[in-house]
Amino acid sequence: MGETCITESNNLISEKLEDYIHSRKFEDYIHTLMNDAYQDIKDRTVHIIWTRTGPNAAIVWSKNKVDTIKCNIAIADWPEPVILGLLSHELSHIALGTDLHSELQTDEDVIARGLGHYLAIERAFTKKYSDHILRDGEDRYLGFTSIKKKMKSKEVRKISRLLTEFGIVVDDSEQ
Ligand SMILES: [Zn+2]
Repeated sequence: MGETCITESNNLISEKLEDYIHSRKFEDYIHTLMNDAYQDIKDRTVHIIWTRTGPNAAIVWSKNKVDTIKCNIAIADWPEPVILGLLSHELSHIALGTDLHSELQTDEDVIARGLGHYLAIERAFTKKYSDHILRDGEDRYLGFTSIKKKMKSKEVRKISRLLTEFGIVVDDSEQ
């Protein structure tokens, strides 16, 4: 019995260490994104916490200048541009603020900041090729196809480059 306890606590320690390592990596990504495209919110501190259930990523709002993005541990090893796409969407939520704003506005904000290629890669990786309609059509997440249509052609070329580089296959034949 004693041995089981030791094993369990060792597992817990390694799990915590892994979370810490992943968090450092993710906070680096956030730092890079903030410097490149989110200068307007660079006075904010964004932390990462991990869950083992729930959505891939979600904002935990706070009143002060600290924001938390809650990520599912399942995404920790996703390819870098996919994670950058996911985090961009959450950073755009932070940039748009606590005022009521839609998922569509959030996706469009990511594209307006010149990060549409990351968002498109994230949607391709998660096989979201067409828009995901919310609240009977009042809101939507943009799919891979719509994101590309909203981007400048020069930026669209970045998508093909990333898809090839990271071996992400687009199979939108059913759309
Ligand atoms: Zn969102």
